[in-house]
Amino acid sequence: MIAVQDALRLVLEDLPLLGCERAMLRQVGRRVLGEAVVATRDVPPFRNSAMDGFAVRAADVAATPARLRVLETVAAGAAPAQTVVVGTATRIMTGSVMPEGADAVVKVEDTSEEGGDVVVRAAVRSGANVRHAGEDLRAGETVLQPGRALRPADVGLLASLSLASVLVRRQPRVAILSTGDELVDVGEDLGPGKIVNSNAYTLAAAVEEAGAMPVVLAVARDRPEALRAAYAEALEFDVVLSTGGVSVGNFDYVRRVQADLGVVEKFWKVAQKPGKPLTFGLYRGRPVFGLPGNPVSTLVCFYVYVLPALRKLMGAEAPYLPAVEAVVEEDIGTAETLTEFVRCQLEGRAQGYRVRATGSQSSGVLRSMSAGDALAISPPGTALLRKGSTVRAIVLGRDAAALQPPF
Ligand code: AMP
Ligand code: MG
Repeated sequence: MIAVQDALRLVLEDLPLLGCERAMLRQVGRRVLGEAVVATRDVPPFRNSAMDGFAVRAADVAATPARLRVLETVAAGAAPAQTVVVGTATRIMTGSVMPEGADAVVKVEDTSEEGGDVVVRAAVRSGANVRHAGEDLRAGETVLQPGRALRPADVGLLASLSLASVLVRRQPRVAILSTGDELVDVGEDLGPGKIVNSNAYTLAAAVEEAGAMPVVLAVARDRPEALRAAYAEALEFDVVLSTGGVSVGNFDYVRRVQADLGVVEKFWKVAQKPGKPLTFGLYRGRPVFGLPGNPVSTLVCFYVYVLPALRKLMGAEAPYLPAVEAVVEEDIGTAETLTEFVRCQLEGRAQGYRVRATGSQSSGVLRSMSAGDALAISPPGTALLRKGSTVRAIVLGRDAAALQPPF
């Protein structure tokens, strides 16, 4: 058995980096940028108004009220025709081009109109309510670095530079291979001794959430020949996730079949709970995970090992799930000799984060995983996470969400 730190290091140390492809901007949300993006132009491209109001010379409204003649109205998207000179102003909208001569905008709420004039009741400083060309992005500056997992604001920046497409890392195609004579698919009859193959669905959702492409293969039965054929098919993919068959049961053939097919095993068995029988190897340099069959073991191993691996394959600069320090709300007994990942609910309070176990920690009880949003880490040598003590907790889920509104 190896320690969790060593297992994670072995998983990540020799992973290949997938190549890049060009993707249209509508398709790049959550993808990992494969190139540095340099601004080819200023954003905004011209000096414009931040308010609906009047473009003025600040000097003209230093003493208020000030009466100015209105030269014209400039709508957003239109070009001013006249220069603002002493004693004049231009009616302007948010985002409209600032006319020559004006150096400030008085907001409409601070004015009233009389005939063709505007009466300004509040002085403004030079530069007030004016947005400068390049205030957001300046031509020539590096806007985003390769390895960035693109967020909506990033995609907006790329659009504002008028980039129709960008170079992103290829998404790994991930084979999901469930093994087990007991498995039936969703909707099929549960004969005696049968259970639904939930792992395939769990993993497909998790792989998608990670920004990779799941491909669910047909269930492999617990016979060496059947498993060999199924595994050979799985090994065509960038990543293999099999579930089940890695323990010490009579029908646990996964490691033997992997070895037969040329998978070079890097470890088997990690000093952790859940997920002790996890196995990992490389096939022609590509990662092959033999995840344990228990539904929670599968998903915990996914979050702890597979997710960082997928992100690293995609060149993500930040491959890990975030972890926070949290105060334990109630005593939690844990496996003393192992690293235990305890399914918890994480709550943020003024004094910091707090965690509470979500119920049965059996590796077959997926419900407590569903009810939780964090994995508290109980290190080896700890048999009790004592109430009031501090633990590290891995925050799960790519999109944090809360039941209550923030204000
Ligand atoms: P195994 O690792 O194959 O011994 O399986 C361990 C436990 O996980 C057994 O109770 C299996 O029935 C269960 N299991 C294995 N594969 C799946 C699956 N694909 N979906 C749900 N449960 C599974
Ligand atoms: Mg099995």
